[in-house]
Amino acid sequence: MAPWIYQGRTLACRVLRPSVLFPKTGHQYHRRLGTIVAKPVVSNSSDSLSFSYESGNQNMKRTSLPNFWLRDNCRCRSCVHQDTMQRNFNTFDIPKDVRPLKVETQHSGVQIRWSDNAHESFYTWEFLESYLKADRPQLEPVELEYFGADGSQYSTAWPPSVQNQDILSDETKAVGRLTDLISKFGFAFITGVPIESGEATEKLLEKIAFIRHTHYGGFYDFIPNLAMADTAYTNIALAAHTDTTYFSDPAGLQAFHLLSHSDPNAKDGTATLGGQSLLVDGFYAASLLKEEDPKAFQVLSQVRLPWHASGNEGITISPDKLYPVLEVDDRMGKMHRVRWNNDDRGVVPFDGGFSPTEWYDAARKWNSILRRNSVEYWFQLTPGSLLVFNNWRVLHGRSAFTGVRRMCGGYINRDDFISRWRNTNYHREEILRRIIG
Ligand SMILES: [Zn+2]
Repeated sequence: MAPWIYQGRTLACRVLRPSVLFPKTGHQYHRRLGTIVAKPVVSNSSDSLSFSYESGNQNMKRTSLPNFWLRDNCRCRSCVHQDTMQRNFNTFDIPKDVRPLKVETQHSGVQIRWSDNAHESFYTWEFLESYLKADRPQLEPVELEYFGADGSQYSTAWPPSVQNQDILSDETKAVGRLTDLISKFGFAFITGVPIESGEATEKLLEKIAFIRHTHYGGFYDFIPNLAMADTAYTNIALAAHTDTTYFSDPAGLQAFHLLSHSDPNAKDGTATLGGQSLLVDGFYAASLLKEEDPKAFQVLSQVRLPWHASGNEGITISPDKLYPVLEVDDRMGKMHRVRWNNDDRGVVPFDGGFSPTEWYDAARKWNSILRRNSVEYWFQLTPGSLLVFNNWRVLHGRSAFTGVRRMCGGYINRDDFISRWRNTNYHREEILRRIIG
């Protein structure tokens, strides 16, 4: 069973708690690894460096690291450009048979003098052990908490929110909290946002990252034509969906701020306007699907489909390749992305590994879970509360409404959001250690 699915559990699921596994200070992190394993005996063979632990190399995936690989990953100040943090030498200038001339075990790591130009490298125990234990760099573990109709089971403060005032007074700390809440729950509100215009909202979103432009534009602040509002019109309900399913790289974050909602025709202002908003935790829904109908999960995660945006004259957008509804990170064994807007979906192919009939059966089941009362989280958007959510995980929709709504918002790229989250939640030193390796 994939680690992100806890069978039989109710709403929420905790995957990993980074504060326990990876303390958010580089110092503790360093010390922690140093205390776990006693220093190994290091020896060098013809093409690699071997590590022998007193405990018998338990929990290790390998006992040696190749010479060339080590030399290529030298972290010295001349090999890593200190301004750009880029590799500062040509890997292919290093002799294929590069070998250590001298290996010296020190308290915090291993010093090596190489056969090429007597270059000196130093590797910390932390670096060496992370690649003896794992196959690749380990990114920050993210703690996910699923939500449903009643919020998240484990959260004491619901819904997740931060105050605009906190962002204005201590931006790094508050944006760190905001982005962490979005990473964990899939969404968060910023409360106390000015409603006179969209300007404050736009500036707030830019504190996460720049706003992404699409063929619809960038930041939007939609002011309805009041002349049209003479005729009370009804805006139809929208079923839960993700946006921009037709991009190779769908929008990472999406933001909505309802600046105002009124009915110019209502005399006493007490008209029922409707317009409830809906969020659905797509990862939670996917976990239910996998639990209740494993085949349907398999079909939706394996059958790749075309998607498109063709409603604008002169514009026909489709992703670089076919994508399934449920993208699973196979290496990590957990959900990666949900892509679901049935209106933008293309033709179900015949060569997807399952028949179209099997796909429709699976999608029908998925659709029924998305519409389940216990899964739908309904709320009323109110002026002053800016909603920001992860469009790769959380689906959104709304009920029908009357009157005139003024909405503003925009998209932010996933990678820029994650970068901001990282840099407001971890020390730079620790981030570089993880990202550069
Ligand atoms: Zn070097």
